Amino acid sequence: MNAKNLSERLKQVASFVEENTILADIGSDHAYLPCYLVHTGIITKSIAGEVVKGPYESALKHVKSEGLEEQIDVRFGNGLEVICTEDNIQTITIAGMGGPLIASILEAGKEKLKTVEMLILQPNIHAKAIREWAINNNWNIIDEAILEEHSKIYEILVLKKGDMNLTNQELLLGPYLMKYKTEIFIKKWTNEIKEWQRIIEQLNKIAFTTEVQQKKAELEQKIAIVEGTL
Ligand code: SAM
Repeated sequence: MNAKNLSERLKQVASFVEENTILADIGSDHAYLPCYLVHTGIITKSIAGEVVKGPYESALKHVKSEGLEEQIDVRFGNGLEVICTEDNIQTITIAGMGGPLIASILEAGKEKLKTVEMLILQPNIHAKAIREWAINNNWNIIDEAILEEHSKIYEILVLKKGDMNLTNQELLLGPYLMKYKTEIFIKKWTNEIKEWQRIIEQLNKIAFTTEVQQKKAELEQKIAIVEGTL
């Protein structure tokens, strides 16, 4: 993969980026996403943030090899630490990490979100953590997408500022994804149910402690939520 031959996952993230927005891509790795967005003319200015030396150097190298140093500023640092108010960032993308890590990056960098109008987040797992963070921090989900690539299923959440209430069902499954109910969505949650049932069977074989009982009840509740939607 490179910026000109982007993965389907990152292309879908890119499809939500509004024209000419000032973007920060956090955890950018090779900076493929900002390079693609600049090459395709969707944006003209971006920051690419990375907290690990190797990927940071890959981003620097890739941006240089694409001749995009004027447009893409690669910065080393943890989460939103790499941006400041003067950058006037309007859109933040965070892709390819777990939902809880994405939520913790947003939580730690809350102060940096004042000028930000849109968050485009692509958790690999546990998107629910992001929906919970959004509710608690007055961000509203305005769209979602789900896709499969190389046998992995990914969700994308698009947020703008605003209040939001979600039911337990919407928190787990995604308010828009539930409505769209695509084949991939059904596949993801059918697989999850099978996995939860497998865990319940394992739990049935071990000592009947309060902890085990609680875990079983939690899984049974999730199965009921998902079955009620599919
Ligand atoms: N965003 C790219 C994508 O979706 O293909 C790269 C995803 S890669 C799996 C996750 C990247 O996030 C890694 O390069 C990692 O170093 C970086 N990362 C993890 N935690 C971070 C943090 N707190 N701040 C900045 N970057 C972070």
